[in-house]
Amino acid sequence: MRTVRRGDRGPAVTEIRGILTTLQLLPTDGGPVEFGWLVTEPVIDFDEAVERAVRAFQQSRGLSVDGEVGAETWRALDGARWHLGSRALYQAIPDPLVGDDVRQLQERLLEMGYDVGRTDGVYGARTARAVAMFQREVGIAPDGACGPHTLNALRRLGRKVIGGRPQLLRETDLFRQSGPGLVGKTIVIDPGHGGPDLGVVVPEGRLRWTESDIAYDLAARLEGRLAAAGMRVHLTRGPTPTAELSQQDRAVLANELGADLLISIHLDGYANPAADGVATYHYGTGSGVTSTAGERLAGLVQREIVARTGLRNCQIHAKTWEVLRLTRMPAVRVDVGYLTSPTDRAKLIDPHFRERVVESIVAAVQRMYFPVEQDVPTGSIDVSTIRAITSMPVPAAP
Ligand SMILES: [Zn+2]
Repeated sequence: MRTVRRGDRGPAVTEIRGILTTLQLLPTDGGPVEFGWLVTEPVIDFDEAVERAVRAFQQSRGLSVDGEVGAETWRALDGARWHLGSRALYQAIPDPLVGDDVRQLQERLLEMGYDVGRTDGVYGARTARAVAMFQREVGIAPDGACGPHTLNALRRLGRKVIGGRPQLLRETDLFRQSGPGLVGKTIVIDPGHGGPDLGVVVPEGRLRWTESDIAYDLAARLEGRLAAAGMRVHLTRGPTPTAELSQQDRAVLANELGADLLISIHLDGYANPAADGVATYHYGTGSGVTSTAGERLAGLVQREIVARTGLRNCQIHAKTWEVLRLTRMPAVRVDVGYLTSPTDRAKLIDPHFRERVVESIVAAVQRMYFPVEQDVPTGSIDVSTIRAITSMPVPAAP
């Protein structure tokens, strides 16, 4: 189509104005205007307001901003009419379906951990493949097309994971809206292993150190500190559970509680006793899909523990483990040192050291709720004051 620009009028301009109005970039057109006895139709042309709206639209879509509607801008405007559910989507060849509904579908699939490549709003082969994988998982014939059944399944399932790069802003907003206080927020602490599953076991003389006991001790201390700060804290297991709890059971529990955060606590173990240090894990795949809030929490936990305990920094890593993948809230797992390392073990069996680990995690949780621009240096929060930070001063009665 030919480029439509300032000063033009006609059906193309009417259509462009209509779309911009629907997108709320342009105020609604007025009805007929009455001048005494003369009733005129409003003038529909490409005026200054339309040009401004086109510029705003181009900016929001990452197009070159010239205020004119050429082929590229027209395709984007045309695609912006569609919302997920307003038409059936499928892989059309050779002219693929393009639109905001396709982009919404791609973002949704990406959030759920499917590889859609770029969320470009084009229903190509990769999108069709991701839809087919989703369909197979929910028991729908995997035709790679997104019709009413698939849409219902997408709606019903909600978000399996929070995250994905496109969600960064939304997640940040969510945390900002929830305020800096910890009061009333729900956190699930997941001590690893338990029951018959002892995790890493290291005999030492007549003693026997187990990962499951130390992880539980850390979790119970953390529970006390976070509850004192006003959080609702749930542990996934007690000190001596009779049965093993699967990763999936732990994730389901956290989802059912509607937790805001989940922290899973483990220790590491390795054949070579020289291996030592702390590592923290968040949800993510090798292809760049990641839980942004999870990654942030992992970074905070990792940095606070390294700064406050001196354990070797084994960095943060993206993993698709079930407890990270199936949880709907930002979730991390921290492996607090190697039980098989004599250096780490000597620290871990000292209750004062474990208290420092717990303080590190409390500081990380608090920083998770600070707006990014108000964040504080690692190691600087005195966690004994957290109660004061979280409660707003109450004005005295007159
Ligand atoms: Zn473990």
